[in-house]
Amino acid sequence: MYSIDKLKEYLENKDVKPSYPRLKVLEYLLRYQNHPTADQIYNALVNEIPTLSKTTVYNTLHRFVESKVATPVCVDGGETHYDATVNEHGHFKCQICKKIFDFDIDLEKACEKGLTGFEILNRSINYKGFCPNCVE
Ligand SMILES: [Zn+2]
Ligand SMILES: [Zn+2]
Repeated sequence: MYSIDKLKEYLENKDVKPSYPRLKVLEYLLRYQNHPTADQIYNALVNEIPTLSKTTVYNTLHRFVESKVATPVCVDGGETHYDATVNEHGHFKCQICKKIFDFDIDLEKACEKGLTGFEILNRSINYKGFCPNCVE
């Protein structure tokens, strides 16, 4: 699905040096698309990369965010989750199973009254509620 060469090329295009831990973190984000936290990524990868430290994971994610390889997702002030899907989309966090779901939203057509003259760097659309699995 995601060859290491493709991932390398992707990081190089974003000016991120493709070290092995960085490639593995990127692969994880792309493969699972489940908005993991830094701890979840660390726990998932440490068996495969015994030399991995939490600091490396945190630094990698920080670098990814800076270079727009990943976006941080903070839905309700809890831990930061990460997303490799960098096109803009909304997040819905289920209050019961704590899963974060992606949804499409046309931000180009969003109506931003009152921001004339402002430069927008980032927009996030976060919803909270109950997912269909939990409402039943
Ligand atoms: Zn749920
Ligand atoms: Zn997302």
